[in-house]
Amino acid sequence: PHSRISDVCKRNGLLILSVLSVIVGCLLGFFLRTRRLSQQEISYFQFPGELLMRMLKMLILPLVVSSLMSGLAALDAKTSSRLGIITVTYYLWTTFVAVIVGIIMVSIIHPGGAAQKENTEESGKPIMSSADALLDLIRNMFPANLVEATFKQYRTKSIPIVKSNKAASESTTRRFIIYGVQDENGSNVQNFALDITPPPEVIYKSEPGTSDGMNVLGIVIFSATMGIMLGRMGNSGVPLVSFCQCLNESVMKIVAVAVWYFPFGIVFLIAGKILEMDDPTAIGKKLGFYAITVVCGLVVHGLFILPMMYFFITKKNPIVFIRGILQALLIALATSSSSATLPITFKCLLENNHVDRRIARFVLPVGATINMDGTALYEAVAAIFIAQVNNYELDFGQIITISITATAASIGAAGIPQAGLVTMVIVLTSVGLPTDDITLIIAVDWALDRFRTMINVLGDALAAGIMAHVCRKEFTKDGDEVPLICETK
Ligand code: ASP
Repeated sequence: PHSRISDVCKRNGLLILSVLSVIVGCLLGFFLRTRRLSQQEISYFQFPGELLMRMLKMLILPLVVSSLMSGLAALDAKTSSRLGIITVTYYLWTTFVAVIVGIIMVSIIHPGGAAQKENTEESGKPIMSSADALLDLIRNMFPANLVEATFKQYRTKSIPIVKSNKAASESTTRRFIIYGVQDENGSNVQNFALDITPPPEVIYKSEPGTSDGMNVLGIVIFSATMGIMLGRMGNSGVPLVSFCQCLNESVMKIVAVAVWYFPFGIVFLIAGKILEMDDPTAIGKKLGFYAITVVCGLVVHGLFILPMMYFFITKKNPIVFIRGILQALLIALATSSSSATLPITFKCLLENNHVDRRIARFVLPVGATINMDGTALYEAVAAIFIAQVNNYELDFGQIITISITATAASIGAAGIPQAGLVTMVIVLTSVGLPTDDITLIIAVDWALDRFRTMINVLGDALAAGIMAHVCRKEFTKDGDEVPLICETK
């Protein structure tokens, strides 16, 4: 038995280390909270975790570009369009199912209760309409400058404009209160004027702008299009395709080395976050129930619905498949970013689950950008929770609107931490709910983000497994390099 245990440890060393690092990170975080570290000490403590995020982010760009270009170039037009259509349809379908699960959960648990809401003031606040959000999504698909797209994405901004206020500009209409201070004898010593003219009203207008963060969607669209075109170019496209294949292989080799740092980084990433978080006991009852609703929905979707779909389509054991991608799920938990997890998802799928890499190269980067079941589920739950808190009765039409917009909002969300919180605006404005109420759920969002990112990554990985099964006839030939490179020889 001793050699058996050491055998298991050898084969699953990295996985075991990753699991341990999550546990150690939690324990260390809660222990250090009692020490009351200063902000400065916390930021130094978070450094190894920051380094992990940096390593992962560094790999996203070469990985997405090289995998999509080399992956799609290796497929003939018929195969790539078939794979593309099936994948995107499957993604939309599972996202929609996730939303339905969320709506059912939030209707059963009803976390918002029927209590009064404290803050109803709403006018004059920054706004971003659904139309703006949709335009941003489309803008991001077509980045005007590819270099800029590697570090910026389009995001409409609310610009405050001070409305010219008559009362403020015309002295005749200014209003003052004059009051005097008297001495003990009752004689007026000094008069004061208090200006009570109403302050100029600030209104907001929305204007196209950019925000920091890679525009992964734009890069995905560009690389996929390039890949398809390269495939059609035949021999003349070979140099670039070979370049991308090499780039892809070398990135995966970097990943293979970097993963050994990850368990160490995870400890500090998780402990650092726990050190930063607000006092968990201060979280209200309703917010607690809301968090439980989201987690229950994610569990139902991630542990029952998605694995069942996988089982019915492939007739294979989903538990074995999920075991193979456990390490990617842990990285998703630690980083709350599906894009940052991408290199590890690739590694797990290729090495543990033996998914055809031509499929993984297409299905994973596209999935990390547009397929977010966890985010969609959370958006639907959050929107209905906000309606419940506001005592706002949603009719059937509005529920349908929420389910469609939550699907769209999840597609629009980038695979970065808390992106879903930003695209919530689309869902809320679509049914006339106050967007300010996003602040109600911020306190728990960082934690929910980790769990929904795990489900997002799980959804992408299972999709790759399913596509490998559905398209197995087209992919019987081994590898992708051979035919193209041989032609040039
Ligand atoms: N953090 C999520 C992801 O990267 C997106 C979100 O829901 O905020 O998949």
